[in-house]
Amino acid sequence: MDISKGRSKLPDFTARFKDYCRSRGADLVGIASMDRFEGVPPQNDPRNIFPDAKAVVVIGRRITRGSLRGWEEGTNRDIYEMFGYSWLDKQFVALTNFEATEWLEDEGWEATPVMCYPPEMPPQGIPVREGRPGPNVNLDMDYAAVAAGLGEIGLHGVFLSPEFGPRQRLQAVITDAPLEADPLCEREICSGCAVCAGTCPLGAIDHENLTEINIAGKVMKVAQIDYSKCRSCPNGARPNIHHSTGKPDRIAAVCVRSCVDALERGDKVTDTFRLAFRQREPWAKNEVGANVAIDTVPAQDEAREDQRDGAADGRTSPIFRPAGHRRPPLLSHNVRRQGGDGRRVHLQLVPRSALVR
Ligand code: SF4
Ligand code: SF4
Repeated sequence: MDISKGRSKLPDFTARFKDYCRSRGADLVGIASMDRFEGVPPQNDPRNIFPDAKAVVVIGRRITRGSLRGWEEGTNRDIYEMFGYSWLDKQFVALTNFEATEWLEDEGWEATPVMCYPPEMPPQGIPVREGRPGPNVNLDMDYAAVAAGLGEIGLHGVFLSPEFGPRQRLQAVITDAPLEADPLCEREICSGCAVCAGTCPLGAIDHENLTEINIAGKVMKVAQIDYSKCRSCPNGARPNIHHSTGKPDRIAAVCVRSCVDALERGDKVTDTFRLAFRQREPWAKNEVGANVAIDTVPAQDEAREDQRDGAADGRTSPIFRPAGHRRPPLLSHNVRRQGGDGRRVHLQLVPRSALVR
């Protein structure tokens, strides 16, 4: 090693590295030790990319809440497409991630930047050595983010952080630098409210059919999801920009936008705003693109709760709040089920002061 390089023996090496990442635009920086990748499939194991690695750094930048506004209102798709997906991932996060790798290599440690390719992407070639996976080995970025202590996988199968909920893009650096691992995230983010499932117009999230997943000892429950429906969902889902075999991007879809709203109203995330995310009745389309009423949570009990709480501000807005969550400021609503299948509901916006027990 070139001993003229860097000051990486200083005790605050990890803290200085994280400070640098934040100064280059990172909103999230988490570090996983390699033992947290025991048992991952060879095709997703970072040790098959860099066998001498000691740590995986996961770096995230937020998807600004305003980047989702165009999809939420149904009037602009391209803002999210660029600032929330394509440019954010391929340029903004990529630059922050690359500058982090440069910092580590300036300190004398090898650092491999890794983009967020889908882990389900099949090998693109044959193995060059016996017993090794074929190229490309792709890191499962959601797995790495949980292993690096940045958050958890929500019931809808999307990674959630305590800061931004589902609103971030992630990349990683695999390095032999002596970075200290972060503890796993202990804070519960997903409440299991099933608002994501209830607002999916295609019924793609089966929240009664849960699978337990274990990442480095952190156990989470994820619903069965019919991705074949998500691939053609007209409610904000986008094709995977990296590979056609990858799962679609659902962060702007109504299921995950509803989660953004639910997490904020439930005080589950720290990046909050003066106005609630959901200000109007959400729009939705069915499989053939026709406008439909959207499912949501039953509200009669909530309405009573709202009135008991004495809210009488007279302002209106729809809410999509799971039972037991903090009552949102200023808002209330009423919901009537229309069909026997429990999936079609009519949203009626009313002032809280008009609600009766
Ligand atoms: S909407 Fe509720 S159940 Fe679904 S992922 Fe978000 S917090 Fe979890
Ligand atoms: S992407 Fe579309 S089909 Fe898939 S869960 Fe979300 S709203 Fe439903």
